[in-house]
Amino acid sequence: MGESAFETVHVTRHGNVARVTMNRPGQRNAQSMQLIDELGEAMAVCDGDGDVHVIVLAGEGPAFSSGHDLKELVGPTADPELTERRSTPEGRLAHEEEQYVDHCLAIHDLRTPTVAEVQGHCVAAGLMLACMCDLIVAAETAVFQNPVVRMTGAGVELLVEPWELGARKAKEFLFTGDPIDAMEAWRLGLVNRVVPEGSLTAETMALAERIAAMPPVTVQLVKRSINKTLDLMGKRDAFDFHFMLHQFAHDTATARTALEARRQKGSMREVFAERDKGFES
Ligand code: ZN
Repeated sequence: MGESAFETVHVTRHGNVARVTMNRPGQRNAQSMQLIDELGEAMAVCDGDGDVHVIVLAGEGPAFSSGHDLKELVGPTADPELTERRSTPEGRLAHEEEQYVDHCLAIHDLRTPTVAEVQGHCVAAGLMLACMCDLIVAAETAVFQNPVVRMTGAGVELLVEPWELGARKAKEFLFTGDPIDAMEAWRLGLVNRVVPEGSLTAETMALAERIAAMPPVTVQLVKRSINKTLDLMGKRDAFDFHFMLHQFAHDTATARTALEARRQKGSMREVFAERDKGFES
């Protein structure tokens, strides 16, 4: 596997470690449809390569990922075909299931162990994506937030928070939409380690290389067993249940009114301002 031909993602190899890097730094790695598709393809290619023992998922620029690219969904630059598809509950469900749920779970279910390398904002669907990885290394600057309740969203498509933060903290995190910093994320067990921003890549790669030096099939089996344990505890069923509630929340009178208001504003700036309320940076 050489350098990739993707536009929004780049893939590099370092011995038995592959780095897959989201490459929309100007948009804080907002996940466009193209990025989601290319990321899925890149991860699958790495997973299919027996020489890749560990995959690091990183984001170019100041932020890991600010979430889904809402400009494709609402506002003046929205994709008309997509807008049409998402105009009915069944169309939106199909779109979100294919584009968001299936792509995320595919990363969650990769045989190869994965490590997310997180700096700056890791927000909403950015957090969902990071949580699909087996381990997370965070820079001291990392900020985790899921403020979608402010925009009438019932979480994002997969409700990772109860599994990552514990139920009580998950409620506070989602009810308020307030951010948590890297040290708090570490204390709660959301991330494995917190390192200075300047050494984030070096520390993440060092951890990945340690894991890559283990017998790869054995590590894969351990991953599979732990993921199965979580599934037997109900994680997958809870994901399914939440996804349906999430769809319902998209279609409440409150949500419809809010969406219409956003469309009429014509500018996404205010939508982002609404989403980002509470950010200090
Ligand atoms: Zn949704």
